Amino acid sequence: RMRERNVRIMLRDRLPRELFNILLRAGELARDVGMEAYAVGGFIRDILLNTPNSDLDLVVEGDGIAFARTLAQSMGGRVRAHHKFRTAVVILENGQRIDVATARLEYYEYPAALPTVELSSIKMDLYRRDFTINALAVQLNPANFGKLVDFFGAQRDIKNRVVRVLHSLSFVEDPTRILRAIRFAKRYNFRIGGQTDRLIRNAMQLDMIPKLSGSRIFHELNLIFEEEHAVDCLRQMRDYRLLEAIHPLLTLTPAQENLLEEIEKVRDWYRLLYLDEKPRNWMIYLLAVFNGMPEEDILSVCTRLNLTKRQSSDILTLRTQTNETVYRFKMWRHRGGPVSELFFMLEMLPLEGLLFFMSRYNQEEVRKSLSMYLTQLKGMELDVSGRDLKGMGLEPGPLYGEILRKLRAAMLDGQATCRDDQLALARRLAKDQRYIGLDAAPR
Ligand code: ATP
Repeated sequence: RMRERNVRIMLRDRLPRELFNILLRAGELARDVGMEAYAVGGFIRDILLNTPNSDLDLVVEGDGIAFARTLAQSMGGRVRAHHKFRTAVVILENGQRIDVATARLEYYEYPAALPTVELSSIKMDLYRRDFTINALAVQLNPANFGKLVDFFGAQRDIKNRVVRVLHSLSFVEDPTRILRAIRFAKRYNFRIGGQTDRLIRNAMQLDMIPKLSGSRIFHELNLIFEEEHAVDCLRQMRDYRLLEAIHPLLTLTPAQENLLEEIEKVRDWYRLLYLDEKPRNWMIYLLAVFNGMPEEDILSVCTRLNLTKRQSSDILTLRTQTNETVYRFKMWRHRGGPVSELFFMLEMLPLEGLLFFMSRYNQEEVRKSLSMYLTQLKGMELDVSGRDLKGMGLEPGPLYGEILRKLRAAMLDGQATCRDDQLALARRLAKDQRYIGLDAAPR
């Protein structure tokens, strides 16, 4: 009965018109080339949950790459094909991304689990997925447009707010699904189903995690760090003893947990500034998880996660820089130092460092200084440049940097706020240094 549900109206009402039209058009094109097309996965899940998501995933029974080319040709866009996986990505001219996959039977690697022969290829495709809530499809061909394909009781699970695997070997087949289960549960405030919870514990007992590659773990961790409830995910990971299974030195001490909570607050605060620059959240979270650990332990965890040399050294550098900034900031405030000094202090830190600094030291005073830096100081441009210095007859060299820095300090401290004042100051500084050419001498 539930399988017969049609969600056409829901699609129309919950999706932007443009996206809805893409679905209609994709269905017509599929019919024209004699294939069946479905919208699948997280896209459908999020429509039913009414949390729209524009990552469109299609599965076709037929040739996915050929279908992607048809889409791109008809709607205007580019195609990138991955022949090995028989998948393609279409990027339409408006920027919309459409992932197209090919449903096929032979892909399934565990023939013992189901009577394979009886399955349609879309069913096979859905059966390979992680959770019931991600294993929904909607038919797009005009004859059945909007018809929901729910082989595994996903609608019931969404209604009951449960994350449930499709079969009992799921976590053994792919242990990263444990991290995914936690991520989806926390994101939607679902619980992990009873049997699914037992299967997770069972997979933990079987020591599946230590065999996982660092890159795969880090990939899933990264996705967790992008979540609003990242800290809850980490706690749940600890409760499943997943953190220590990844690396014995990964624990969550109360101090680290406090710091993680501060990070969450700082992220909310930063979001409300509506700035364009997005932080690399994984760096901030790892810094918190590494708090209080000796350097060699940190490196050992980084190695386990297969971070690049560059990523590991960036983390260590950031950690040192933040420590220094906490110290320097305290001194600056104690002395009542000038704004320019704040600027030069914060300028040293990449955004992740700034946000971690604030998490370490989340006080009204710091929030005020940081928001002044991020929203005002950082964007202030000098009204003079190296070219003006050259025009004064100053020899190009390291002195340029020094003078420009002094001009910037003066500007930030309100002492040379227009071009004329800055030029005058530049001349004075240059003259002091006796680097200036004769004919450009002022007065
Ligand atoms: P998000 O909203 O986080 O993007 P999503 O469901 O789109 O969620 P993706 O990681 O983009 O998540 O994966 C797309 C789809 O591929 C999922 O809906 C899921 O069905 C399937 N999938 C992804 N990873 C796995 C996995 N490890 N095992 C099985 N299926 C997976």
